[in-house]
Amino acid sequence: MSDCIFCMIKDHQINSTVLYEDDICMAILDLSQATRGHALVISKVHYDSVLEADDEALAHMIVAAKRLANQIKKNLNAQGINILTNAKEAAGQTVSHLHFHIIPRYDQHDGFNPKFTDHQGQWDLEDIKNEILK
Ligand code: AMP
Ligand code: ZN
Repeated sequence: MSDCIFCMIKDHQINSTVLYEDDICMAILDLSQATRGHALVISKVHYDSVLEADDEALAHMIVAAKRLANQIKKNLNAQGINILTNAKEAAGQTVSHLHFHIIPRYDQHDGFNPKFTDHQGQWDLEDIKNEILK
């Protein structure tokens, strides 16, 4: 996909700050830096999101993400890491090319807030289960 920014990055057609690269994936620093050291692991093959991705590529990428997360945590002296992926616009995906965010966490007030809203009691869990598994 020639108009895909991450395809251009993985093909080295545009510049990025590369942390890691192999045949399956590439890790770069995210331009936005949600926290200091925020990185992305992007696939070498274009998949729109995690939902369409090849299983083997995904397995490889999550291991690469784990290794880089540990390296970032250690060398930037982070206290924790969020690894996440957004799939589709409704979930906040802005670049339709599979990527995992690696977000180093320094404390709970470092500017990144992935807190879940608590809707406990609002829906019947058995109903949800039956609908998912039908
Ligand atoms: P998402 O919203 O999950 O699709 O994440 C896309 C991410 O890509 C955002 O965090 C952007 O800051 C980042 N991004 C967009 N363009 C570039 C670029 N050229 N180099 C590095 N990161 C980028
Ligand atoms: Zn792409």
